[in-house]
Amino acid sequence: MNEHDSEIISGMLAARGYTPASAAEVDVVDIVIINTCSIRENADKRFFGTLGQLKKAKTKNPDLAVCVCGCMMQQEQITGKIRRSYPWVDVIFGTHNIHEFPDMLQELYDNRKRKGNRIDNKLRSSKEFRVDRIYEDRREIVEELPANRLFAHKSFVNIMYGCNNFCTYCIVPYTRGREQSRDPENIIREVRDLVIDGVKEVTLLGQNVNSYKGISPESGQWDFTDLIWALSETPGLERIRFMTSHPKDLSDKLIDAFGRCDKLCNYIHLPVQSGSDTVLKRMNRKYDRKSYLELVRKIRQAAPGIAISTDIIVGFPGETEEEFEETLALAQDVRYDSAFTFLYSPRQGTPAAEYEDQIPEDIKHRRFNRLVDIINEGSKSRNAAFVGRTCRVLVDGPARKQSVSEEGKILLNGRTEEFKLVDFAGSEDMIGRIIHVKINDSNTFSLRGEAVND
Ligand code: SAH
Ligand code: SF4
Repeated sequence: MNEHDSEIISGMLAARGYTPASAAEVDVVDIVIINTCSIRENADKRFFGTLGQLKKAKTKNPDLAVCVCGCMMQQEQITGKIRRSYPWVDVIFGTHNIHEFPDMLQELYDNRKRKGNRIDNKLRSSKEFRVDRIYEDRREIVEELPANRLFAHKSFVNIMYGCNNFCTYCIVPYTRGREQSRDPENIIREVRDLVIDGVKEVTLLGQNVNSYKGISPESGQWDFTDLIWALSETPGLERIRFMTSHPKDLSDKLIDAFGRCDKLCNYIHLPVQSGSDTVLKRMNRKYDRKSYLELVRKIRQAAPGIAISTDIIVGFPGETEEEFEETLALAQDVRYDSAFTFLYSPRQGTPAAEYEDQIPEDIKHRRFNRLVDIINEGSKSRNAAFVGRTCRVLVDGPARKQSVSEEGKILLNGRTEEFKLVDFAGSEDMIGRIIHVKINDSNTFSLRGEAVND
């Protein structure tokens, strides 16, 4: 979600004639924007560290506009600290008014002009020019914002904003507000335009996409699966993915679509968070271990070979060794294709941060390592099952460590429908296309193969 917000911010600035620069150019650029995440505490620390370093850049380059945005700005203790202690911050905006950013930037320049653009050496006067606007909740959904996409051939598409679930550990409902779904017509139009622009794969975004409730003036209420089926009719669109779905709202209708809708990728990210019923209850997740496992069974039955990934939190307050072992056992049972594993991080303002039985860091770390071992075993064996198969890979670009082979081929990578990362040798013209790749080798995190004729 934050990444896509960054693409939109970048798109709005590109529309005004700005071009992106690298971090190394910080002493000469016009604008620095820090888009923040507040899911876990280490992001907070990194943010203030980076902000501290920007003071030096601002001293060298006083015209620099330092702009901060994202989830952290929706928390008063954070904005209070910025306002008090970081006078070199020029623009502060939140998650609900991203669309106002270009105008806020203009306001900053107008303020500077009016007040003489004089910055004293303690940088105090920066505060006078500052443009600081944050809303507590989203008023309306602003459509038609441009985005500077990271990839030409695939794109994120927001279908809803906010979250109503209030899991007791999570800050998102406080920083992103209540759920609001976009109208289906607007989503369909956006996807159609993206495809005309060369996009082959869309990832539908929302904190809980399967509680999507769109209202169409013509056909009334739409649920998430209705939206998927409608989007699958977009000519030229090859793949549909989504992130993230909540187990409590995963309907049989959606499971059925996995089996029957060709464009819906054979992959689901289904965060479990814990394998223990008592922990799930304290987390306010509204499902239990048994119903989660039943979902996994139904999904695999409807769509054999589907890849399943998850999120798991280790060391939630009060988590006992037995409760943790239930998570280990669940991970072993399900054998996930991959998982994001997190150490529980107390977030100020959430109920769980107030619970008294917080787990000591060393115990959290030890449990975390045990879990990662089991997750990795699962990933390794799930990946090994791909060896010998030929997969359709949407090619993203040169693999990070670019290497050119004797025949002049470059090492490319891309994703299978199951979201498996595949490295193979090919040519530049394959980027952005779906290429058949025969898988020859695998490890815990990726596959390796060779391009074969279609
Ligand atoms: N809406 C998505 C998740 C958004 S946050 C969902 O419900 O699945 C992404 C992940 O961050 C969560 O699934 C959770 O595993 C993790 N997370 C959220 N708050 C956390 C916290 N306080 N400490 C550790 N991990 C957290
Ligand atoms: Fe956070 Fe739970 Fe909402 Fe996901 S569903 S964003 S974890 S409150």
